[in-house]
Amino acid sequence: MRKYIVGNWKMNGTSNDLGEIVAIGALAQLHNNVDSALCIPATLIERAVTAVGAFPIGGQDCHMQASGAHTGCVSGEMLSDAGSVLTIIGHSERRAAQQEQDSDIRAKAEAANAAGLKAILCVGETLEEREAGKALEIVLAQVTQSLPDAAAGGWLCVAYEPVWAIGTGRVAEPADVTEMHAAIRRALVERFGAEGQKIRILYGGSMNGDNAAVLLALPNVDGGLIGGASLTAAQFQPILAAAQAIGK
Ligand code: PEP
Repeated sequence: MRKYIVGNWKMNGTSNDLGEIVAIGALAQLHNNVDSALCIPATLIERAVTAVGAFPIGGQDCHMQASGAHTGCVSGEMLSDAGSVLTIIGHSERRAAQQEQDSDIRAKAEAANAAGLKAILCVGETLEEREAGKALEIVLAQVTQSLPDAAAGGWLCVAYEPVWAIGTGRVAEPADVTEMHAAIRRALVERFGAEGQKIRILYGGSMNGDNAAVLLALPNVDGGLIGGASLTAAQFQPILAAAQAIGK
């Protein structure tokens, strides 16, 4: 499986940053063994798509409805209309701050698919859950409950992001990543059969140019979801290069 490297700009970026998006898009073209994309604030999507050409631009959430009385929300149709080809769903920052439940996330993933978007569906345990020995149980329950029945077919990938590793500089141990990704893979194969082998599982949580080569070489790590280190082309480049060197 080709590695998939996706940047998540979170609530960062204004028109002043369009040049950085263009630089990242140009870098992506140079790393032609790798699939890559950038998920940016909704306000920038249309201008970014115009500026970068073919490089995939995405959103960071979408509402479960296509339209209606949902002040401040953005639907899959709207993301697609603005030129997005993907969106993140169920990021832990939204699970925590917007109290998104697995059932919401499942409905959002279905809405993204209905709008023709690819989806990166995030799962991950908190530090308390890991320290209580519940990481596998929590994450596998999220996988079971938030993935739609129609998750196979190439439009969805799972991102395993331990909450305590996001934005903290603290990366999960390779053995723990290997264990979790293997468990997610087993769950995907149990539910989707051979198609479950094809669903990409990304790792996210303080991935950067120093640790990407080790993380991306682990079994069942099919790519990365990258926050802080995706904000500049200079930081994103070594991650793309690590993925390119692994190839496939
Ligand atoms: C993320 O936002 O999904 C993420 C993994 O952030 P960071 O790389 O900054 O930890």
